[in-house]
Amino acid sequence: MEPPSTNKPKQQEFTLASVTDLTSSSSPPSSSPVVATFSCVNEVTELRFQESDSADGFNFDLSSAQLLMKCIVCNLCFAQLFKLGPLQFICVSDSSDSAKEDSFSRGVVIKFRDEKESKDFCDTFEEWSKDAVKKGAFLDLFMFTSRFLERKRLSGSSLPNGTVSDSKSKFDNKIEAASAKMYFHYYGQLLHQQNMLQDYVRTGTYHAAVMENRSDFSGRIVVDVGAGSGILSMFAALAGAKHVYAVEASEMADYARKLIAGNPLLAERITVIKGKIEDIELPEKADVLISEPMGTLLVNERMLETYVIARDRFLSPNGKMFPTVGRIHMAPFSDEFLFVEMANKAMFWQQQNYYGVDLTPLYGSAHQGYFSQPVVDAFDPRLLVAPSMFHVIDFTQMKEEQFYEFDVPLKFTASVCTRVHGLACWFDVLFDGSTVQRWFTTAPGAPTTHWYQIRCVLSQPIHVMAGQELTGRLHLVAHSAQSYTINLTLSAKMWGVGANQGGILQTSSCKLDLKEPYYRMSQPQAYPVSQEPLAQPQDIQIQSDDLEEVELLQQNANAQL
Ligand code: SAH
Repeated sequence: MEPPSTNKPKQQEFTLASVTDLTSSSSPPSSSPVVATFSCVNEVTELRFQESDSADGFNFDLSSAQLLMKCIVCNLCFAQLFKLGPLQFICVSDSSDSAKEDSFSRGVVIKFRDEKESKDFCDTFEEWSKDAVKKGAFLDLFMFTSRFLERKRLSGSSLPNGTVSDSKSKFDNKIEAASAKMYFHYYGQLLHQQNMLQDYVRTGTYHAAVMENRSDFSGRIVVDVGAGSGILSMFAALAGAKHVYAVEASEMADYARKLIAGNPLLAERITVIKGKIEDIELPEKADVLISEPMGTLLVNERMLETYVIARDRFLSPNGKMFPTVGRIHMAPFSDEFLFVEMANKAMFWQQQNYYGVDLTPLYGSAHQGYFSQPVVDAFDPRLLVAPSMFHVIDFTQMKEEQFYEFDVPLKFTASVCTRVHGLACWFDVLFDGSTVQRWFTTAPGAPTTHWYQIRCVLSQPIHVMAGQELTGRLHLVAHSAQSYTINLTLSAKMWGVGANQGGILQTSSCKLDLKEPYYRMSQPQAYPVSQEPLAQPQDIQIQSDDLEEVELLQQNANAQL
């Protein structure tokens, strides 16, 4: 515990444009400039607001959180400053009795005369606030056992000018509240957990990966990142884990508790923690993280970020991650049937006499709308027209920020003469156990999973000849609705005479929202049967320059597929 610092000036003053007491409906904004004074009297840190032409003032005593006549009293331990605009802030203070249910917050809106003054005030507020926290802790620790004190220590007390409040969690700061609400509502329902549990390829592979690598779990501390029904926690306990912390943010945590309690031999070694990985605390470090954070195209749902945050927060150095590495595989495809189907959907808007109404003004928008949806279904791998390539995401190394944007250069060599309709993608993950390295794949042709595969369809197909090179770029940008904007460009290089001049013959691009897929699983699929397989998922051309152990991974993939 640190003693209060002694080298601070006795008091500091600022002239403000005006102050409005939000807590008192009878208090109009001050009509003349107000002087704000930070001071420390009898170990009480105080912020006083006083109209410059009046002897009366607002007293914003930062220590005792009481409203006196013309005084607002609060403790800086319990006060926070939020920026409303360049010159306008709100100072909110919890009552020191915040443990009581009927306690309430107080607030004043502060207006500054210029930005320099607002910045200086913020800096000073932060300093005095920190000091008040130290003093509070030093003087009377048990008074401040409320979580507020901890919150203030963790988040800092005020805002440097030009930044926004950071009082929300890391998750809440980057994800829209509406998206998160729907997301956790979805996972809070048993039917959706059942859907995942009934994906036997998925659940069976996790089970095998854990059981084959008992030595990684036996006697270890495990954290299940996004535990859902708690199934992976129970697998870890079955494999002999010393203790498993099953962290789940949705209402499913309550069901997981119930399910785990019904398995008493496992229950004594599993603790369910309801909350977000980004927010919760654990009593000890983990030896192993287990999680199923994969979305469509691997990265959808942005839960991989949560997985690496869990790594940074809870995993011991040299701890293991199940899964360890993921790969996004990509290959150009040709599917006339799909292309026509999508184009036909927009044809509805070509009608010039729909009950006497001309629909054609919206044809372009409808066409664009359909082609901005990635198609999710299980397709025949014979539709691939070139050997696939992959991009590696190493969960043990990736920084959270590296998930915000992916820029993947594409390069393929067409195996046949055909029309390319877009890029097909799927993923696999590696469980790099000490005993067995097991891959889980969602490749076309492999047993179908609930992820199926995903295809980005170009509204302008590209003609290629066998042997012709296709280049391009897959650019993924994360957005706050827990998904990505996909930008795809494919170009066919000049063929025959003129090729050595390096010219590009044809380029086609599309922009898609991974959050809005077209689920096509129930559609009839007419595939040519005479064609030979063109590419196998394991026919991998290495394009990614971000992984040293690519060869090892490829060997593993070949061994497993
Ligand atoms: N592990 C389970 C569920 C996987 S689905 C299984 O394999 O069957 C992913 C789960 O992670 C969902 O239940 C979701 O609510 C949870 N989740 C997602 N983001 C989370 C976060 N930031 N913190 C805690 N749980 C999260």
